[in-house]
Amino acid sequence: MVDEGAAVSILKKLLRMETTQNQRRRLQAIAVQILLGIAGLALITFACFQLGFGLARTGFAYVIVISLVSLLGSFSASIVLSIVAAAFLNYFFAAPLHEFRIDIPDDIERIATFLTTSLVVTALVTKVKRSADELRENQAKWVKAERIAHFGWWERDFTTNHVSLSDEVSRIFGVRPVDLPNWHERWLKLIHPEDRARAAEAAAAALVPGGPRYDMEYRLLRPDGTERVVRSQGDVAWNDSGLALRQFGVMQDITELRHAEHELRASETRFRTLVDHASDAFFLYNEDATVLDVNRQACENLGYRRDELIGMTAFDFGPDLTPALLQRIRERLRDGKIVTYDGRHRRKDGTVFPVEVRIRPLWREGQLLAVSLDRDITERKRAEDELRASEERFRTFADYAADAFFLFDDNAAILDVNRQACESLGYSREELIGKHPSDFDVALEEASIERLRERMLGAETVTFETRHKRKDGTSFPVEVRGGQFEQGGRRYLSLARDITERKQAEEALRRSAAYLAEAQRLSHTGTSVYNAGGNLYWSDECYRIWDFDPLQGLPDPDRVWQRIHPDDRDRVREENQRALHEKGEHSVEFRILLYDGAVKYIEATSHPLLSPQGDIDEIVSTHVDVTERRRAQAQAEKLLQLEADLAHMNRLGIMGELTASLAHEILHPIATVRNNARAGMRLLEMSPPDLGEVKGMLGYVVRDADLAKDIVGRIRDHIKKAPPQKEIVDLDEAVDEVIVMVRAAMDRNRVSVRTRLMEHRASVRGDRVQLQQVMLNLILNAMEAMSSVGEGTRELSISTERCQAGGILIAVRDSGPGIEAEHRNRIFEPFYTTKSSGIGMGLSICRSIIDAHGGHLWTDANQPRGAVFRFTLPAVDESLDISSSTCLETLPAAEGRRVPENSNPGLKS
Ligand code: ADP
Repeated sequence: MVDEGAAVSILKKLLRMETTQNQRRRLQAIAVQILLGIAGLALITFACFQLGFGLARTGFAYVIVISLVSLLGSFSASIVLSIVAAAFLNYFFAAPLHEFRIDIPDDIERIATFLTTSLVVTALVTKVKRSADELRENQAKWVKAERIAHFGWWERDFTTNHVSLSDEVSRIFGVRPVDLPNWHERWLKLIHPEDRARAAEAAAAALVPGGPRYDMEYRLLRPDGTERVVRSQGDVAWNDSGLALRQFGVMQDITELRHAEHELRASETRFRTLVDHASDAFFLYNEDATVLDVNRQACENLGYRRDELIGMTAFDFGPDLTPALLQRIRERLRDGKIVTYDGRHRRKDGTVFPVEVRIRPLWREGQLLAVSLDRDITERKRAEDELRASEERFRTFADYAADAFFLFDDNAAILDVNRQACESLGYSREELIGKHPSDFDVALEEASIERLRERMLGAETVTFETRHKRKDGTSFPVEVRGGQFEQGGRRYLSLARDITERKQAEEALRRSAAYLAEAQRLSHTGTSVYNAGGNLYWSDECYRIWDFDPLQGLPDPDRVWQRIHPDDRDRVREENQRALHEKGEHSVEFRILLYDGAVKYIEATSHPLLSPQGDIDEIVSTHVDVTERRRAQAQAEKLLQLEADLAHMNRLGIMGELTASLAHEILHPIATVRNNARAGMRLLEMSPPDLGEVKGMLGYVVRDADLAKDIVGRIRDHIKKAPPQKEIVDLDEAVDEVIVMVRAAMDRNRVSVRTRLMEHRASVRGDRVQLQQVMLNLILNAMEAMSSVGEGTRELSISTERCQAGGILIAVRDSGPGIEAEHRNRIFEPFYTTKSSGIGMGLSICRSIIDAHGGHLWTDANQPRGAVFRFTLPAVDESLDISSSTCLETLPAAEGRRVPENSNPGLKS
């Protein structure tokens, strides 16, 4: 950089150089003038000397020479030459000759006159010469100025009607200065047709006294066809009588100016168009933040018109702008700095939007202006918000991922991690960022990391197992997947999965497989999977059940079929076919015949797995070895049969015990029949026979025969071995029949019977014969017990009543010795008897019958003596609801509850 002082000194030097050059040139000119002058003087001296001219004449010649030479310009040279010439006159022409001495006073006078004349003439010549030079120079400058400014003059003389044009004006018109006759007409023709009339009018108007000054702009069409724009103005000189004498004017070619103006206007328009179409809002402010101009975008953004905005201040629509902020902005702008900040603008409707403001300083005529570019960043903010939200979403995804994410840069330093990575390693995110794999990987060496990196650079996704170390020093196995990608540089992403759980899961799976195998073994359940192509899988238990060797691989389907019992094979095949057709689950039971001749019962359940098209892909089948169950079932059936047989035997026993009583019951009607038949016969023998009476007698016979038949029928029912029935049993009727059967035995044992039955008939659902068997057992036991006691009345009471819970309670009371409390439960055990001839099965069978009917049987002490046996039965409408039949409210707390527990284990099992 050149500082001012240095520049000035250089300038001075240059000026000095210029000055010395000019001086030298002037000195040279003076020298040339002097030499020329001396040469001229010498020539004149020689000529005058030869011609014999005297001092006066020679002096005159000298004056002419010196004057001529002085035309060369230098007055100092002329002075020198005048002095030299005076010396020549003295030496060559004044006496004494050839001596610088003057003897004659006239000569002195003459030489002095010569000197004076010479100096005066040369001074005048020099001055005139200089004036002429100056004039010429000025003229040249004027011409130059005219040319430069395209400016010239014109003059019109109204007395001669002559027009003069300066050279430049001629050039502007494109005419030669010589062709100027009839100028006015030619002038008009040179004017552009559109401007011609106006120009002629203005020219004429200027010549009217008091009219407007001639000053106009018009276009010329030059003879060569080019067009120019000129401005011409002129003033008129008037004579005393108000006549125009002359008009002098100047003209300037302003084509370039107008063109430049036009260009400027066009460029201004272009600029405004550009500015108006800019997507940013432009504001031009003065120093006080008053709006000087705005573009269209500014108007659109703020909702004001341009003329409304101009004159407003930035405070009017900038809710964040404060005087202090404005002051700071102003200071920065004064320092020539650009100010940028994110702010807000308020629209005319009051709504506010975010803007990015960028202000530049602009100096105009010493004034600080500010150009502000305000960008509506609503979209950008929205996009930024979107981006932030999407980033957050991504982070949420990443954070909720079950895998740990690690993002590495090219130097294997962690750039980012997810929550899982922090949790698995026990570090915070900040702690992990910047770490190197070797900081938390205990298995990877630097060389392996480098190898992995190279593989990832080859666009490979690497997978490997390693161990990660937690902050607390413990380590755990992980499976890592890693890949490389570009995002603002080379990045590596690795996903680490804690495979402790996987290992545990594998272990759990192994264990559960073992459990399953064990469970299959224990439950004798085998599983197989097969499809049309054959067997796909057989579980160990399946091999065991079918007695195939697992070492020989999956058994051939034909061999499996062969193993099915020949009697069951066709049925199984048929059912299989049907199940395949229906594509449903199905169960089939069959036998298999093993090599050693053993038979196994198999319960097979098959479940088809269907393809999305609905075709059977595979069939999963379970095979349960139910041989044991079958055996147990058979045994249970046998037991049941045994139970039934026992009950039957019990009934037979009762019938045996009641033989006498029953015989009496049958004999009684038979005897009556006989008597009535006899009486009938006698009536027939009468003459005439009383047929009416006979008919009555025969009616009695039929009734009594029916009675006997009924009794026999009932006995047969009790003797008959029939499967248990489920019918509606009228309890009152059943009780009546039982009393009929035991009546004779009672009479014989002097036992009085009392029945107290329910008001409404009581019905239960069950087997009448079995229920009567229970009552008979209880009655016979009671009778026996009472017979064992000598004294006291023997009273038997049978009652039915409704329990509060809904069932029917039947009680059989006696006035016998009763049962000791500690024996009350034992008497229901099979083979428990206190009688020498007893079997001890009666009560056990009774309880089993009542249990089978959904009721309960128990015993208590009767008041004032004896025993009471009670049993409940569900009423007919509730017979299916066993629980509702429990009349526990009537049971004594201590023993009643025990009753259901001791429910005849011998028979039940
Ligand atoms: P068994 O009559 O063959 O002995 P039970 O099972 O009918 O078999 O009776 C078992 C025992 O219960 C009887 O031996 C007897 O001791 C007792 N017992 C049954 N009913 C009564 C009763 N009403 N009074 C007193 N003891 C009874």
